[in-house]
Amino acid sequence: MSEKKLTLDTISSLAKRRGFIFQSSEIYGGLASCWDFGPIGVELKNNVKNLWWKHVVRMRDDVVGMDSSILMHPDVWVASGHVGAFHDMLVDCLGCKTRVREDHLVNGKCPRCGGSEFTEPQKFQLMFKTQAGSTETGKMDVWLRPETCQGIFVDFKAVQTVSRQKVPFGIAQIGKSFRNEVTTKSFIFRSREFEQMEMEFFVHPDKADEWYEHWREARWNFYIDAMGIKKENLKLEPHKPENLAHYAKAAVDIEYNFPMGWQEIEGIHNRTDFDLKQHQEHSGKSLIYHNQETGEKYIPWVIETSAGVERSVLTAMCDAYDEDEIGGEKRTILKFNSNIAPVKVAVFPLQKKGGLEEIAMPLYRTLMEKWFCQYDEAGNIGRRYRRQDEIGTPYCVTIDFDTIEDKAVTIRERDTTEQVRIGLDKVKDWLVERLK
Ligand code: ATP
Repeated sequence: MSEKKLTLDTISSLAKRRGFIFQSSEIYGGLASCWDFGPIGVELKNNVKNLWWKHVVRMRDDVVGMDSSILMHPDVWVASGHVGAFHDMLVDCLGCKTRVREDHLVNGKCPRCGGSEFTEPQKFQLMFKTQAGSTETGKMDVWLRPETCQGIFVDFKAVQTVSRQKVPFGIAQIGKSFRNEVTTKSFIFRSREFEQMEMEFFVHPDKADEWYEHWREARWNFYIDAMGIKKENLKLEPHKPENLAHYAKAAVDIEYNFPMGWQEIEGIHNRTDFDLKQHQEHSGKSLIYHNQETGEKYIPWVIETSAGVERSVLTAMCDAYDEDEIGGEKRTILKFNSNIAPVKVAVFPLQKKGGLEEIAMPLYRTLMEKWFCQYDEAGNIGRRYRRQDEIGTPYCVTIDFDTIEDKAVTIRERDTTEQVRIGLDKVKDWLVERLK
């Protein structure tokens, strides 16, 4: 990477230019803190979610998946504590009128104008409220969920029974969450609508500390080994006891070194039996677990891992970003790990004419059965490579006029730009070997 410091603007303009991420409702002037994922972005996002699902659910015997509803009975949010306590304290700067979160004041001064006089702090509810039902009398106030985990807690008994899981075991889900965030900068880092990848692991109270350690390590390793994030850009930040959430006994954040500084990408929490106890009390339904072997009955404790999809996507993009020079020409590359790269292979006939398409198109059709691929026949080859480098495509396959004679193609590797010539009939196996 060149010495120039990476900025969020560089990432967001690349994201827009190459079809990763756009401002929502842009033709109407946009809606703050809401984002749309374009054709390349949605592939990256799906790859991140699938990788998480593979490691947290599919490759484990002790975690099962679910997908709960966004709208839930309003009492859920009373029991969880959100109706009473999910708010930010806001102040208005008397100097520049900016509304700021009290906990975001920099040494008691306004982050915009440096002023130090403010209005009294006021509560600001972070949950979006809407209404279910169409008649005046049958209408009910409901909330858009601000986290996915409550759907897991209220279905704990049902999922445990049908999956025949025994404690210790976990339930995982990926889904949308909504928060009416006050601070709306930092691109997709803090959005009002975002996705979470959450896993609640139910354990015997005596084993909670052990499982907390287990998940802290497993999640740390995931970013490095599975997503390929550079270790030096990650750190674990334990919460100080005085900063713990009301439900937590211990908590640690995994932070990434973003262009705007170190910020949380995932939280790992020991939530005790707080949530199940609350839901048992408010619903009147028993959420006690009965260990058939020992006869013991108890409310399990919960170790939670809670990651944001958008923050993981932003982490992947910032970490992969690089610039170098090839033959005196500057290029921008996203050096994604191949398992999250949106496009795995690009296929280029050197020219549109001359019978090359007859070879290139069938190859492309074969490769697309296995991976998300792109076919590009427009413009000079250098420009086509650069376009693929910018979206992080690991391999480009070029069919040229020699291919007609020697039945071989050139494969170019993204990071090294090294090229190899291999037989047309070997291309798929060659790629399978490298895109494992
Ligand atoms: P922050 O302190 O940054 O507001 P948080 O501590 O409120 O985050 P949690 O409630 O622990 O976050 O949510 C778990 C994860 O969900 C976070 O680590 C983050 O990845 C993601 N997340 C939370 N709020 C947002 C948001 N507004 N936009 C995008 N992702 C979010």
